Amino acid sequence: MKIKLMRPDLFPETALKKTLRWCGCYLSVRHRYILTKKNRLRLRVALPSAGIFVSVVLLSFSAFTSPSRAIYLHNDVIAFTNKNDIDLNLAVTQKNLKHDIPGQDQNDRLRETERFASAIAQETALLPREETLQVGKGDTLAGVLQKIGVSAGEAYKAVLAMEKYYDPRKIRPGQEIQVRFDPVEDDDHSYQFSQMKLEIDPLTAVSLNRTAENGFESTLLEKEAVTQTYAARAVIDVSLYGATYQAGIPASVAAQALRVFSWDVDFQRDIRKGDALEVMYEQLETPEGVYVKSGDVIYARLIVNGQDMPIYRFETADGDTDFYTDKGASIRKALLQTPIDGARISSGFGMRQHPVMGYSKMHKGIDFAAARGTPIYAAGDGTVEKAGPYSSFGNYVRIRHNAGLKTAYAHLNGFAKGMSAGSRVKQGQVIGYVGTTGRSTGPHLHYEVLQDNRQVNPKSIKMQQGKVLAGKELENFKSRVAEVNRRYTALTKGTKVASRQVERESALR
Ligand SMILES: [Zn+2]
Repeated sequence: MKIKLMRPDLFPETALKKTLRWCGCYLSVRHRYILTKKNRLRLRVALPSAGIFVSVVLLSFSAFTSPSRAIYLHNDVIAFTNKNDIDLNLAVTQKNLKHDIPGQDQNDRLRETERFASAIAQETALLPREETLQVGKGDTLAGVLQKIGVSAGEAYKAVLAMEKYYDPRKIRPGQEIQVRFDPVEDDDHSYQFSQMKLEIDPLTAVSLNRTAENGFESTLLEKEAVTQTYAARAVIDVSLYGATYQAGIPASVAAQALRVFSWDVDFQRDIRKGDALEVMYEQLETPEGVYVKSGDVIYARLIVNGQDMPIYRFETADGDTDFYTDKGASIRKALLQTPIDGARISSGFGMRQHPVMGYSKMHKGIDFAAARGTPIYAAGDGTVEKAGPYSSFGNYVRIRHNAGLKTAYAHLNGFAKGMSAGSRVKQGQVIGYVGTTGRSTGPHLHYEVLQDNRQVNPKSIKMQQGKVLAGKELENFKSRVAEVNRRYTALTKGTKVASRQVERESALR
């Protein structure tokens, strides 16, 4: 079916008609798919065109009458939070309402919109502005404040008020500072710097607030630490340090445990692959579970060279806290077997640079291989007899103990502060650092024990037995041991070797 585009009998011959006919001819040549040979509009074009026309007419009519238009205007008001913008938008809204929305309720709607906008404007005026700033490299606290628009004078006053609890020079890059700006009273448009909060450590923060007199005062905010108990088991593969790290034992906890075993174990020679260290320790955390610091080792057990050595932290009736074997004997001895941080000893297998030698007729001391700078401890309480260079020994320290015993330390990189002949040292005190001075081919400690001025094998020294618990105290200790063992089992139960588990300390009380 074809629709006739023009009917000459209905239209007189006019200039318009001529133009249309010319267009029709032109189109008929170029666009045969729109028009037929007789210049009639093809049906496939005519019908959709009519449909689109009707839709456009209906849609534009409904846009004027639809109630959603008023809501749309309200939404516009909500979207603005700045009071100036709201004022501006309100004016636009009023204009739109007056001109675009027909109907008798136009004034009602206008009043409603005005009320709505003014309520929002009022709320917005009271809304404080909060920001979290990050300290950049080279920033000062006052500088950070000035960057966000605080005047130099106010920034200075603020920092001064904060100094009561916090040294502003301690500020470090990456640290976060929360600041708040409050609207100025009786002024719709301006804000003033009113509050700042800065975290000192996970448990403490300092808060600075503007006073009524337009000064600043600071307060210290403190959280209470929560004590958590962890347990872990490390099996030695290559090195003790690697094993404790793999087991997730914090370095300070590992060092604490190994130090306790240093009285009985030579960490250079006694440790073998497959040996194990068990440890149960406390850790301080914020109420949200953020690590604060490592606490005390409660229990440790070293299985080394076929020997099983469990030790327990215990407080005696006189208030002294110490570690005891499961039999209730203090683990303290006159001398340490390992006068160096045990966790930092390099395993003997890979030592190509320097042979780590034990005691023999040819080598009247024992060697500990460790990185340059590793702290060296006094093996026992005593008096320094010599501290300085000593021929092939390089930098050398010798300490005199009780009962004709002396210990000597050679090839040191340097001495601890205050080391000189005559100074008193405590067992475990740092006396110097591992080095390779004198006749030495790599960083190591050469350690000697002397009995009546003659070198002896450190293992041959018969140490006097320390404190041994007895009576009621031993009974208390035994029940403590049973409780600690139960807890260790509970904490590590169902978990693989070398895993950790958490338990709330409070749950045990
Ligand atoms: Zn040596």
